[in-house]
Amino acid sequence: MTAMPERTTRSPAAPAPPEESGRVKLLLVDDDEDNLLALQAILEPLNQELMLAQNGTDALRLCLDHDFAAILLDVRMPDMDGFETAEMIRARKKSLHTPILFVTAYRSDEQLFRGYNLGAVDFLFKPIVPEILQSKVNVFVELRRTEQLLRRKAEELASAEQRFRVVLEAAPDAMVITDQAGTIELANSRADSLFGRSREALIGRDIHSLLPAWQCPEEELTEAGHPRPTPEQRLMAHRDDGSAFPAEITRNSFHTADGLLITTAIRDATDQAHAEAKIQKTNLELEKRVSERTAALRYSNEALRQFAWAASHDLQEPIRTVVTYSQWLSQLMGGNLGAREAKMLATIEQHAARLNQLLAALRQYIQVSDSGQHTLTNVDCNAVVKAVTWNLQAMIQESGARIECGPLPSLVSLELPLVQLFQNLIGNAIKYRGADPPVIKISAQEGENCWILSVQDNGIGIDPKYFDYIFGVFRRLHGAQKSGTGIGLAICRAAVERLGGKIWVESALGAGSTFYVSLPL
Ligand code: ADP
Repeated sequence: MTAMPERTTRSPAAPAPPEESGRVKLLLVDDDEDNLLALQAILEPLNQELMLAQNGTDALRLCLDHDFAAILLDVRMPDMDGFETAEMIRARKKSLHTPILFVTAYRSDEQLFRGYNLGAVDFLFKPIVPEILQSKVNVFVELRRTEQLLRRKAEELASAEQRFRVVLEAAPDAMVITDQAGTIELANSRADSLFGRSREALIGRDIHSLLPAWQCPEEELTEAGHPRPTPEQRLMAHRDDGSAFPAEITRNSFHTADGLLITTAIRDATDQAHAEAKIQKTNLELEKRVSERTAALRYSNEALRQFAWAASHDLQEPIRTVVTYSQWLSQLMGGNLGAREAKMLATIEQHAARLNQLLAALRQYIQVSDSGQHTLTNVDCNAVVKAVTWNLQAMIQESGARIECGPLPSLVSLELPLVQLFQNLIGNAIKYRGADPPVIKISAQEGENCWILSVQDNGIGIDPKYFDYIFGVFRRLHGAQKSGTGIGLAICRAAVERLGGKIWVESALGAGSTFYVSLPL
């Protein structure tokens, strides 16, 4: 009997190896070609890869090259019968566990005994019942498939674990993996060096012996459904030699088949803690120096204020003397005074009066900048504006000014600074009017934790380069044309700052000006 050429039912259009395509290999051995074809026809519907052999030698050769899910072996064959073939198949390591089903026409105990002794898993008796054959073979097909699946899963698991270990090792921090109670299950090599212990010695230990304040994190999920890492935490870490160090830790929990596991990343924060302590010390020193400086400045400011107040008072007397003497002189000389001398005496009196005016303005400024204790009251800004317009009645009538005042708030504040503020701003709005009669709009709006008051005019406007300049003491832009002391806006600024607020201006030449004042609620 000649060996049949190796035949398979694999289609050339589907070249994938059987294992990958999910098909398994089955070997059918029978010296009778018709029997073989009959077996093949019965098993075809299982859609597996069938290989055929007509004698034991061919069967053995195929077993060398292929891994079969099952072998169907005819018992009666010339030369090497089914039992001898089975014995040789079993003798090879590769096919030691391959299931063998003997196909025989004789049902004898002796045959069964011999067959089972040779590792047969079943006997099929001729004539073959297709359904029985199919269902028996199918069992082995399924077995092989399950085995393949398990093998693949085990490989995947091993490679995932390998990847996990690589990631753990590559982490820049010491990493310790524990269960919920804190028993260490895994640690990376950085953990060894950080705690001066071998990794093996760490495994099984309670993490609390390293980080006594460690706690299992509360599980919180991100939008994507992953556990959210806990925020970084500073804890004291302990080594076995009794030394301790500050550590930054981040915890993360994840679910596994064995339950919840927690990764704790630990970083030595000794240097950071030193740096923080140093910064804190420097900050304290700086704060101390600043408060000393502030106290010294407050003291010298108060001294200056008192000096300016005394000087502005004391200077009134010599000015009065100058004026008195110049008046006496003019009376004494009577008609003998020439026009030139009379003009000179008038100039002396004029400048003395101006000096008096400046000193009065200076005293007002000093008064408003007095930061001493004063009782706050409820001040209605509408009433303040009303009082101020009353004070400025003459100016308003003479200029034909119109004042439009929106509803203003009541503030818990000091009355005098608010009066001085509105008086100077409204007075300036009239004083620095343009060709048209002045229209002054006063309004208030609520800002963030503050009120913003504004006084808008349609006057000559201010060049933006002077926006800061005009708030200084004795600063004037239109000194030659308009009367004034150059101290009004300085008073406004001092008044607003005294109330904890800010003042600024928006304007352009010829386009009117708007003064804004923000006052805290
Ligand atoms: P003064 O006594 O000169 O009015 P202020 O301190 O009140 O002093 O103002 C300083 C300068 O700012 C003024 O001399 C004037 O040039 C300018 N100024 C103030 N208010 C206005 C305004 N509403 N429109 C145009 N210029 C103004």
